[in-house]
Amino acid sequence: EQTETTYNRVMLKISGEALMGDQGFGLHPPTVQRIAEEVKTVHELGVEICMVIGGGNIFRGLSGSAQGMERTTADYMGMLATVMNALAMQSALEGLGVFTRVISAIRMDEVAEPYIRRRAVRHLEKKRVCIFAAGTGNPYFTTDTAATLRANEMACEAIFMGKNGVDGVYDKDPATNDDAVRYDAVSYDDVLAKRLKVMDASAIALARDNNLPLIVFGLDEPGGFRGILAGKGTYTKVSG
Ligand code: UDP
Repeated sequence: EQTETTYNRVMLKISGEALMGDQGFGLHPPTVQRIAEEVKTVHELGVEICMVIGGGNIFRGLSGSAQGMERTTADYMGMLATVMNALAMQSALEGLGVFTRVISAIRMDEVAEPYIRRRAVRHLEKKRVCIFAAGTGNPYFTTDTAATLRANEMACEAIFMGKNGVDGVYDKDPATNDDAVRYDAVSYDDVLAKRLKVMDASAIALARDNNLPLIVFGLDEPGGFRGILAGKGTYTKVSG
């Protein structure tokens, strides 16, 4: 079945903003649907899929604390935002006939399963898409760190970072610099030293220390995720 790609188990990380469409805030159901369809086409290849979705389309801890809220409280609100996004993605995927589990780092048993590593592995073996919600469960972290942590725990072969409006890692911001150049490949150390915008530094360090490659690609191209898994299209590979 699996001739198109060599990957068996992957992590797909998308930011919360990937789900908001042109709205500027919150969830845009047709956009959620489109991403779910992308995930389904990869699922059909037999690839085992983990997902982490951010929460920035709803709430970010840093912006809450900038407005006087206690940082830890604001971060918990951000983590709860990721649960809403995870449930929206679950609903869209199951509407397409893809079985899923939402697995939360913060217990809320009526809403999502608690994170139990061996149970999550079993879901993957049964080809259920595992959507890891509530980040790492700890304030002061990001969902990039959560994606890297879970990818390591689940023994994913790579993290696929789906980005909006950009198709890889550039030497400077391509939105404001016409001469920005995309890297085909770049090392973790260069990402850190040059402060390239990929993931936050703690997530990059966690990927580097465990030799987990990151593939940064654009979410805007339809069919992009499946193409990227097959090594087609433009992307940046971050590795050792
Ligand atoms: N967050 C947290 N711990 C985690 C993951 C997330 O405290 O392990 C909070 C943090 O406040 C963050 C918010 O959840 O701002 C939303 O996550 P993130 O900013 O990573 O979302 P994205 O930018 O990917 O949409």
